[in-house]
Amino acid sequence: MDADQLRQYLEFYQDLGIKTLYRRKGADQGLRPTEATAAPHPGLSQAQGTPNETPATPQATLGQGGAAGPACPASQGEPLLAILQDIGDCTRCRLHAGRHSIVFGVGNERSPLVFVGEGPGADEDAQGIPFVGRAGQLLTQMIEGTARKEGIGLKREDVYICNVVKCRPPDNRAPEPDEMEICGQFLYRQLISIAPKAICVLGGTAAKAITGHKEGVTKMRGKWLEWRNIPVMVTYHPSYLLRQYNEPAKREAWEDLKKLLHFVYD
Ligand code: URA
Repeated sequence: MDADQLRQYLEFYQDLGIKTLYRRKGADQGLRPTEATAAPHPGLSQAQGTPNETPATPQATLGQGGAAGPACPASQGEPLLAILQDIGDCTRCRLHAGRHSIVFGVGNERSPLVFVGEGPGADEDAQGIPFVGRAGQLLTQMIEGTARKEGIGLKREDVYICNVVKCRPPDNRAPEPDEMEICGQFLYRQLISIAPKAICVLGGTAAKAITGHKEGVTKMRGKWLEWRNIPVMVTYHPSYLLRQYNEPAKREAWEDLKKLLHFVYD
């Protein structure tokens, strides 16, 4: 990479609000951008380090019943960049046919808190960044507003945000179980890599995929569940909260977030 490319690379991350970049150990020992990494993927910062070199099993999927699987030990994963490289120009499921971009994830890759939605919408597909449309703006307000009210200094870029499926389902439909099963292996590896203190799951579709529970979001929300020994808080999807006359659900979502933020940041 020449100086001009490096400058563009850094400006790109600055525009995303990412201020700190870490240099990966061994970066000058042969790690060169491959085709998949030569252009920076929107949302993938360099702040990922190498927690250790143990790769997560490539066959791993989210599985049924989150708590039933092996525990997630702290930082046992691979770098997020390796997962993105593995995704490559993915054609593993039918969603690839209609996508403009793979929406991998955004934010602090060492965050103690990860938000997981179901799948990108049109705005996310266009920009390659999760939760940037109307629902995303509400999510940002919810995170930052709740944190501020609770005296916790937290910005959107301090957490990590991603989805169960990385390609936009057509017509904004929910992802199908087989699509979530196929793409779930990458979410699994992202979560193992980040090893957050807690996961916030947005909406019933993602909640079923991650926890394996069959109940609707109204039953699951507000309680502590588990994925591989990591506490999981399910709450309403911000798109649902954008609907009219949803004040009670909004209040509940705010309560869920308060509980979650105090658990993670107190
Ligand atoms: N809805 C989701 O579930 N994810 C996004 O990234 C945007 C909208």
